[in-house]
Amino acid sequence: MEFKYYSVKEINNFMEAKGLAVNKKFGQNFLINSGVCDTIVKNLELTPDDVVFEIGCGLGSLTNRLIDSPAGKVVGFEIDNAYQKHLTGLFKDYPKFTLIAGDFLKEFENAVKTHLLPGQKPVITGNLPYYITTPIMEKVFTGTCGFSRAAFMMQKEVGDRVISKAGKKKYGSLSIFCQYYSEPKIIANISPASFYPQPNVNSAVVRFVHRTLEPAPDNEKLFFAVARSLFINRRKQLKNNFAHSPFLKTIPLEIILKAMEQCKIPLEERGENLSVEQIIILSNKINNLNLESNN
Ligand code: SAH
Repeated sequence: MEFKYYSVKEINNFMEAKGLAVNKKFGQNFLINSGVCDTIVKNLELTPDDVVFEIGCGLGSLTNRLIDSPAGKVVGFEIDNAYQKHLTGLFKDYPKFTLIAGDFLKEFENAVKTHLLPGQKPVITGNLPYYITTPIMEKVFTGTCGFSRAAFMMQKEVGDRVISKAGKKKYGSLSIFCQYYSEPKIIANISPASFYPQPNVNSAVVRFVHRTLEPAPDNEKLFFAVARSLFINRRKQLKNNFAHSPFLKTIPLEIILKAMEQCKIPLEERGENLSVEQIIILSNKINNLNLESNN
């Protein structure tokens, strides 16, 4: 379809004529670089069997490319009234597109039920409103429907933490959370000049491909409790962090220390050196020893 990407000089006039203003409250930084939109769509590897959900359609810069892609259906979310009207008008001749006028965080589960066949997994994308990047990822990764792939524009600094591996400075709870559910990869670094208005941070597109790890945690809640405990104090040794963890209050410290020994993790190890796989093995050991001790 014809879609015009306006230059920084033109976009102000265009928005004014349409009665659109930039609403900071909704994290609005619109993409004005068509190449970035093409990169996102290409990396989603869409097929006619896919239903792709887009978070925050805004001016429709990414939406138009999704509608033109091989995807079978495009379901967009937009919270801002003015942009809802703009999008409905812009894409009225494309039955492949449905707009959900509302908050993605509230509407996602229902939208999935409405638009997917049983067992079908959503593909999710968006130039995210940065103020809710983490809640969006939590919603997508832990949703009852699961997901197959995703590609999100986010702050570069957040993207770096998402992909960081054990032993690196930026490795933390967010890395573990994302890498537990997916294989994340930065597919493009994006400068502020690709947006209007320009954000005051660099951005990155991160692609997530769903995965299920083997072995899996026997007790997912405990796995995340152990993961969070690793970073209570980065300079402290693991045994200290476990001893003071508010997330592991119900598990006796002797059990945790015994599990570490059996998993051959030195007591003075630093939490940031444990890989996702090691945390799963350790949490499974803690879980087993704890169950045994309760019997
Ligand atoms: N992808 C668009 C807009 C990106 S800016 C483009 O590049 O042109 C982020 C968009 O998300 C804005 O349109 C904003 O209004 C919308 N948004 C913010 N919070 C939202 C929420 N909770 N649910 C749905 N959309 C939201």
